[in-house]
Amino acid sequence: MRDTLVLNASFEPLSTVTLNRAVVLVLQAKAVVEQAHPELRMRGAAVDIPAPRVIRLCRYVRVPFRRQAPWSRRGVLVRDRHRCAYCGRRATTVDHVVPRSRGGQDTWLNTVASCAEDNHRKADRTPEQAGMPLLHEPFEPTPADAMLLALGHDDFEALPDWLAQPAA
Ligand SMILES: [Zn+2]
Repeated sequence: MRDTLVLNASFEPLSTVTLNRAVVLVLQAKAVVEQAHPELRMRGAAVDIPAPRVIRLCRYVRVPFRRQAPWSRRGVLVRDRHRCAYCGRRATTVDHVVPRSRGGQDTWLNTVASCAEDNHRKADRTPEQAGMPLLHEPFEPTPADAMLLALGHDDFEALPDWLAQPAA
């Protein structure tokens, strides 16, 4: 997958995102295309635009790239793409891997997105105690995640089908 460079409104390079996310940011009027691939276009029923190589955000975002992004429940859901860490289905809640009742903290490495069912089932137990292994380990969000979070761009599930593959 080709990545697109994202510039802040001040033209300062921020991060890279996938081509799909870049196009969605442009279609949502959150970014403008600064430079396009000469031969690659994104085509859909109502859209036909050059595939962006560089985009620039329409408004300036402050993103703490050199320090840790502040933890938030919404941030955990964005980082995990709204996928449950236990079953992979759509997640709407945040689960503490080590439960708060056992001293677990609100940190990126101790929280995962979870469906309500699994969150309820796991209750005040660790994944080992509950027999519910994590599908993936929690991680610190990437600069791209932090940037998208700062933009309020958190609904990755809304990607239109035609954007799944760029048209050649
Ligand atoms: Zn689940």
